[in-house]
Amino acid sequence: LADLRLDAGRAIADLRELDRLTGGPEGARRVAWGEEWQAARDFLGRRLAELGIEPERDEAGNLWARLEGREREAVAVGSHLDSVPGGGWLDGALGVMAALELLRTLAAGGDAPARSVVLVDWADEEGVRFGRSLFGSSAAAGTLDPAELRGISAPDGRPAEEVLAAVGVDLERAPEAAGRLEGLAAYLELHIEQGPVLESEGLPAAAVAGTAGVERHRLVFEGQAAHAGTTPMEMRHDAGLAAAETALALEPIARSHGGVATTGRLALTPGIPTAVAGRAELMADLRHPEAGALASMLAEAHEAAVRAAKGRGCSLRRERAWSIEPLAFDPGLVELARRAVVEVGGRPEPLVSGALHDAAEVSRSVPTAMVFCSSTGGLSHTREEDTPEPDLERALEAFGRLAIRVVGGGR
Ligand SMILES: [Zn+2]
Repeated sequence: LADLRLDAGRAIADLRELDRLTGGPEGARRVAWGEEWQAARDFLGRRLAELGIEPERDEAGNLWARLEGREREAVAVGSHLDSVPGGGWLDGALGVMAALELLRTLAAGGDAPARSVVLVDWADEEGVRFGRSLFGSSAAAGTLDPAELRGISAPDGRPAEEVLAAVGVDLERAPEAAGRLEGLAAYLELHIEQGPVLESEGLPAAAVAGTAGVERHRLVFEGQAAHAGTTPMEMRHDAGLAAAETALALEPIARSHGGVATTGRLALTPGIPTAVAGRAELMADLRHPEAGALASMLAEAHEAAVRAAKGRGCSLRRERAWSIEPLAFDPGLVELARRAVVEVGGRPEPLVSGALHDAAEVSRSVPTAMVFCSSTGGLSHTREEDTPEPDLERALEAFGRLAIRVVGGGR
């Protein structure tokens, strides 16, 4: 078993075929629960059928395909086939096709593997329609509350319950998928980095030590809308400038802690050139791999917002829009992943992922590790997303070595 190797060329050919079927000049179109997403799953189903494996769906719409080993205990491998609209060909698809290639390699390997292997395609990782990322994996991890989605409408006006029911998923029953993680010995995922670090270092791949924590907050400043021509500067209560000051303050806060902070949305009301903004709404997204540092960043951001509001005679309201704590992967598996990565010329030290992944949810109850490959220009969630083929090959090689060692046992 130890000398089995994934056929990286075959996995890349599958990825290109999937891109032909569900992508195009505008990028990937595999938005969860939609037609192209189903087409992607049909493609995966045809490839699994060639191995005599019939996939099944759980209550949250996740797809599972099992290759029986000598032991009941199973190792799960996978990622997500869904994409953002106009997305790239590799985000999520790479991990699913790597998992397929692993099943194919093991099935052709003669002897059954020691542990059983299950491919999983998580449903709705991207959260495009309802703004709830990691739907399927959080249902499996027991952290999905159906109330978060109840009554939430997609941009086309259809409520979540209806969109899910149309593809045979009952929102209220989605948490029953939780049983799926029981008895899993490990979860392994290959994914693109979606950032510029590996490319800037000239490295093809890295092990991933865990995912950064996220604090996403909505800050609402209320001042006084007033005429832009007649209101003297010293008599204004400019909510827009209070928000802008806060946005600028977040940058040195993030830098001083070695984290990241983003003001990705800043909306001014009334939002016309002839009025002082009476209201401003800012979305702040703070991330850090360490819980303590993230809490400090949040406290300092709050202080900065209070100061900015006070200085301009505005009120401030703050709501947490979403948060997740930093999640560390399994140290033993991360070390195995690191060694496999180093063997193919990858990064000597693991990275911490600033982006979230299904693996973060799974890692709450199952020993987990990830492998990243480089992203050209650090770009993702765009049709320009790409990875040089030699890097893809080496990342697939590292992932294969890791998975075959974990499946074979002897961790
Ligand atoms: Zn992804």
